[in-house]
Amino acid sequence: MAEAITSSAPAPRARVQAMKEYHPPLGSRDALRLDFNENTLACSPKVRETLAQISAGSLTRYPEREPVEAIVAAKLGLNAEQVALTNGVDEAIHVLFETFLDAGDELLLPVPTYTMYEVYASATDARAVTVQAADDLQFPFERLLEAITPRTKMIAIANPNSPSGSVAAREQILELARRAPGAVLLVDEAYFHFFGETVMDCIGSVPNLVVARTFSKAYGLAGLRLGLLAGQAETMRWVRRVLSPYSVNSLALACLPPAMEDTAYLDWYVGEVVAAQSKFEAALDAAGVRRWPSRANFVLVEIGARHAEFVQLMRAAGVLVRDRSSDPGCDGRVRITIGTREQMTGAIVALNETMAALRGGGNGI
Ligand code: PMP
Repeated sequence: MAEAITSSAPAPRARVQAMKEYHPPLGSRDALRLDFNENTLACSPKVRETLAQISAGSLTRYPEREPVEAIVAAKLGLNAEQVALTNGVDEAIHVLFETFLDAGDELLLPVPTYTMYEVYASATDARAVTVQAADDLQFPFERLLEAITPRTKMIAIANPNSPSGSVAAREQILELARRAPGAVLLVDEAYFHFFGETVMDCIGSVPNLVVARTFSKAYGLAGLRLGLLAGQAETMRWVRRVLSPYSVNSLALACLPPAMEDTAYLDWYVGEVVAAQSKFEAALDAAGVRRWPSRANFVLVEIGARHAEFVQLMRAAGVLVRDRSSDPGCDGRVRITIGTREQMTGAIVALNETMAALRGGGNGI
């Protein structure tokens, strides 16, 4: 019976049939969440106050994005027409790729990097061309330049990158923009607040530059789904044709201005993470665990062949971490988000217990 229903179901586009399924491992996350690079604590109390004031009547209205886009643009020193709010950066990536990538186009991606670039690219008719980073996982600038062709239509760079935490220098980004004038250069600054460097100020002067920011990380609003895209006005006009006018809901829109205004909260949280990061990295060094230098709120570590067991043992000790072994060039590597100092003190205990258990296991790691 079920088979008959399945075989009569309409087939999706061939592209979609070829897409890989992507299921983020979100199940039962009732532990210390060091697996998704979220804020591990809370958003600003100003956001909570705003949520408490939202009336039932206001929920009956369709959300109006433009006034909030104007506020956000002003805070970033941009014009409203240069900024679009999105349902998280994931929607921004999806819409940008749908807007610009056609059959025969190439999307250039330094890898390993954020998974969703390849996922959304695979829904278009363009070809993803990956440039593998060396073992040090530094930004492969020279090889990216060499990979630019007349067909390069998009270059996507996460800066800082995930899962490595490595960064591209401003000069490198600007040089890529110059060398690929026919391509959109997406700089995904999801982890900007932990790094502090940006190319947002180049919007307007670098015509092919598009910058994405998320409110899911430092701001602690992953559940509200808020991101933004900034680019020159003409680029954003095309993007808006594809973007749903209502994809950012009214709760998210109401919370965005107070979240951005509470810079004291943001600075406090970033300060906690930065302080906790050096302590946690010192603990990794003391435990003899190889790590890659990171400018974001996470660190990639080398566990080796027993990576899955490491993740299990950490979970048993109450700490969720993310196995990145299936990322290109990342076999045996695990990414650990950095939370507050207090949380990371607990994480260090879990780490030391886990490493002792693995090493006591006899097979080495
Ligand atoms: N870009 C990067 C580099 C990320 O790591 C993430 C989150 N994992 C995102 C974008 C997605 O952000 P959002 O929650 O805004 O969709």
